[in-house]
Amino acid sequence: MIGALVLGKLRKNALRDTETNLYNLARLMASVEAANPTHLWSDQLPRQLAEVAKDTGLHLSLWFANGTQAGGAVEDGSESGKILEAPEFLNARGKDYGFARRPLGQKGGGDYLLLVVPILFEVDVIGYVRIGSPLTIIAERQIELRDRVLAGTSISVVIALGLGFFYTRYVTRPMTEIGESCRRLAAGHFEERIPIRRADEIGVVADTINRMAGEVRRRIRLESRERKRLAALLAVMADGVVAVSARGEIAYVNRVAAEWLGLPEGVAGKTWAEALVWPEVRAVYEETLASGRRVCREARLMAASGGRVVRIDATPLADEDGAPFGVLLVIHDLTEIRRLEETRRTFTANASHELKTPLTAIGSLVDTMLDDPAMPAETRRRFLGRIRNQSIRLYELVQDLLAISRLESDAEVPARQRLDLAKVVEACVQDFGEIAKQKGVALVCEPSPVPLWISGNDEALRLIFNNLLKNALSYTSEGGRVMVQFTLAPAETSVVVSDTGVGIAEEHLERIFERFYRVDRARARTEGGTGLGLSIVKHLALVLDARVEVRSRVGEGSQFTVIFTRLA
Ligand code: ADP
Repeated sequence: MIGALVLGKLRKNALRDTETNLYNLARLMASVEAANPTHLWSDQLPRQLAEVAKDTGLHLSLWFANGTQAGGAVEDGSESGKILEAPEFLNARGKDYGFARRPLGQKGGGDYLLLVVPILFEVDVIGYVRIGSPLTIIAERQIELRDRVLAGTSISVVIALGLGFFYTRYVTRPMTEIGESCRRLAAGHFEERIPIRRADEIGVVADTINRMAGEVRRRIRLESRERKRLAALLAVMADGVVAVSARGEIAYVNRVAAEWLGLPEGVAGKTWAEALVWPEVRAVYEETLASGRRVCREARLMAASGGRVVRIDATPLADEDGAPFGVLLVIHDLTEIRRLEETRRTFTANASHELKTPLTAIGSLVDTMLDDPAMPAETRRRFLGRIRNQSIRLYELVQDLLAISRLESDAEVPARQRLDLAKVVEACVQDFGEIAKQKGVALVCEPSPVPLWISGNDEALRLIFNNLLKNALSYTSEGGRVMVQFTLAPAETSVVVSDTGVGIAEEHLERIFERFYRVDRARARTEGGTGLGLSIVKHLALVLDARVEVRSRVGEGSQFTVIFTRLA
């Protein structure tokens, strides 16, 4: 475009310059001729003009006012006087000069720029100077100029293309690549790296982004490791943990909480309403969110969680500017603690009651004896006998209570050693021989043909079998039979103590191992039972890694089996 504009302008300028030059020359010549009008008639004139024309390449001719050519020359094929009709002359009429552009001479010749200036003598026009310049000269110059402009423009275009190529290669394309990489980074592909290694600004940008991506990746990895650690911790925690957003969506539930609250898997992301969480838990959540303070409540979760008693500890979660975004609920199971507390309470009550009964009996017997000094000796002896029985019962009770409290304090775990179970049991059976005979009950022990090695404690084993034998004899009436048998399995050794006594009804079987539990209180008391024997047996068996099983049928008898792990 610049080329085209410049060329157009140059062409105009060239024409104008040519016109000006021709005008000046013509004026000069007109002045010279006006100063010496005779020269127009000189026969030298045509030659002089031809010489000038030859040297300058210009057309030069002088005319008289009537239109005949000066110096007798005849050119342009013009008849004398006719020339005045030529456009340049017509244009000059009454004016300072006249221009025309037209061919001159023979047909087919190029255009000339012709200028006519009148020669004035005083105020009369005595002739004309006509001067012409072939336009071909201007055109040639014009072509030369155009070529130059074209060359310049071409060079500029080539340089511009080169610069464009350079710009694309070194600026635009790397920026596009950086943009692409940034998009992938933003989409979470933090392993993405921009492959630009340059020392310039783009290189610095790429390097900074790469480093930033590395740092983000490192932090995310740290963060996720931290999160995994936390998740593992929460998952193995014995307490239930539930995180709920301020909108009531469950953000996290650990396994324990899910189990206790009966939440199905994949509950995270659902709202309270969808998850149907207990109203008690929900109330704590709402209170915490509303108050912005920590709230601690005890609640009993019904049905699905088996009437679990829990303490719900709710902490509001707030971000840096204090806006609450959720609540963290930690659920602590109090069921076992409550049950233990209950057991302890009943145990104390039961123990006091059991102690009180023989003491009251002794007290009233002693009072009666004191009140009646004249009591017959027979009655006195019978009273003393009953006092003795009650004190034995008291002694036994205290003995059992001590045994239980010893067993419960973990400090006293009986030392275990390799011993022959058959020997210990046989010795116990022997101890009861006399009592059995007195009661008229047959006590039979089938001896073991081989030693039965177990890891046990002599005293604990004696306690176990003394209790079982004592019960068997107590609850078997005269003429009955108590049997002790050994059975062997590849990994186990069992001792079976069976009797043909009163038996235990199905509904009591579960509970006879509880402390102070007696099927028939009146009968047990006459038999001197404390209700603690079987609970001691069970406890000791547990300590020795053994287990106790019971089978019984009312009226037919009972069978207690203690199963030990066998040593080679
Ligand atoms: P106790 O000192 O009263 O015998 P235990 O704890 O030893 O207390 O036994 C609990 C209850 O289990 C007894 O009161 C009795 O009713 C029942 N029982 C235990 N052993 C037998 C048995 N061999 N035959 C029938 N009932 C038994």
